[in-house]
Amino acid sequence: MDYLPIFLDIREQPCLVVGGCEVAARKSALLLRAGARVTVLAPSLNAAFAADLAASRITHRAAIFGDEDLAGFVLAIAATGDDTVNRAVAAAAKLRRIPVNVVDQPALCSFIMPSIIDRAPVIVAVSSGGASPVLARLLRARLETLIPASYGRLAALAAVFRDQVKVRFKPSERRRFWERVLQGPIAELVFSGRDDEARKALQETLDDKRLEDPRVSLTGGEVSLVGAGPGDPDLLTFRALRLMQRADVVVYDRLVSQRVLDLVRRDAERIYAGKERAKHALPQEDINHLLIRLAKEGKRVVRLKGGDPFIFGRGGEELDTLAAEGIPFQVVPGITAASGCASYAGIPLTHRDCAQSVVFITGHLQDGSMDLNWPALAQPRQTIVFYMGLLGIDILCRELVAHGLPAAMPAALIQQGTTPEQRVLVGDLATLPGIVRRGGVRAPTLIIIGEVVKLRDRLKWFEPEG
Ligand code: SAH
Repeated sequence: MDYLPIFLDIREQPCLVVGGCEVAARKSALLLRAGARVTVLAPSLNAAFAADLAASRITHRAAIFGDEDLAGFVLAIAATGDDTVNRAVAAAAKLRRIPVNVVDQPALCSFIMPSIIDRAPVIVAVSSGGASPVLARLLRARLETLIPASYGRLAALAAVFRDQVKVRFKPSERRRFWERVLQGPIAELVFSGRDDEARKALQETLDDKRLEDPRVSLTGGEVSLVGAGPGDPDLLTFRALRLMQRADVVVYDRLVSQRVLDLVRRDAERIYAGKERAKHALPQEDINHLLIRLAKEGKRVVRLKGGDPFIFGRGGEELDTLAAEGIPFQVVPGITAASGCASYAGIPLTHRDCAQSVVFITGHLQDGSMDLNWPALAQPRQTIVFYMGLLGIDILCRELVAHGLPAAMPAALIQQGTTPEQRVLVGDLATLPGIVRRGGVRAPTLIIIGEVVKLRDRLKWFEPEG
């Protein structure tokens, strides 16, 4: 870290801006927004100062900068466009130990100014440490879109109740209380402009006598069944990320990538529930009971599953037992392996010219065989996506040909799709089994069969260096 980020209280403090140009006017306006008493020192002032000058919000000192001009100021900004003057301001301020910023000259600064997102009282500051102000600004623009404009009003509401809540709850309960308020219906009232109702609802919640009964859990446990996508953390949904970052405990599968797990709240407990073929770390029965137990302890449980929880994820079974126990749950969809791998391999799953339908099917072997509706699969103009098909590759290629697909039908294997380790091998129904054996292909691998595989030649774009 090259700089210490801090927020400075300069209300009613005398601050000096040296320079009369438009940039100086912007800096002066920023200082005014933070409540400073601003003096602008310059022989003449740009029109951008006119309104503040007319309203006597700033004091103008028409002069050329001299060292003694800094006396009595707590902070200085130089924006003169004249390098000699800028250097003089920086040197004099440093001698007097007054924090100084010279616009666009980090080397002369004792502090630099971040890009800010102003949702006062919430302020987000972004800095590239002078390395690339444009990058910081781009990042700021992205954050602007993520943070609702009414966050300031929500924070203001929280400020009003902060002391009451402190008295009312133990620290551990306090965090949960606020998280519930700031993400629940009360926040929604603020976002829709109904601040008075929000204030009333918050007061009522605090006055609720039931909260004093220690047996009444402030936040009952809940389980979120969350799709973690195929591996690339960029493919998580906002909702998945938000839940992962407020989870008390995360129960995850083998398919969930480390880079996704790295985004879980640091203090959250992590429990590996396994699911390696034939050596389940925890039998399904135990996973169901584990989720119930954790939720009953009042925890916010995130059940994190690779891809989409409702596609070959046994998500339905886990929810069934939760529903039977009356435990609140929600489901967050994820990008399933078929979508993720197809996109990252440059293979459209459907295409006007060669595939009007796509089937997702499990090629999981049961007692060494595969009981599938082969005639329905071996249809023309259809893409077939096999999940868990690696061990059954011989059977599935053989059966599809036996049921009418040409042996030369293109097919692709995508191993660890969407990750830096992604590997794509292309062949056809005749050659695929050999490719698997010779290529040392390992799980997780997805198999895509159909004319669409040919499009990869032109459409491939994600080729991690391996
Ligand atoms: N719920 C998951 C699928 C679980 S079944 C989803 O929606 O994606 C497990 C199978 O998914 C694996 O055997 C493999 O065929 C496929 N799979 C999951 N992630 C994958 C990845 N990153 N690359 C290739 N295949 C993947």
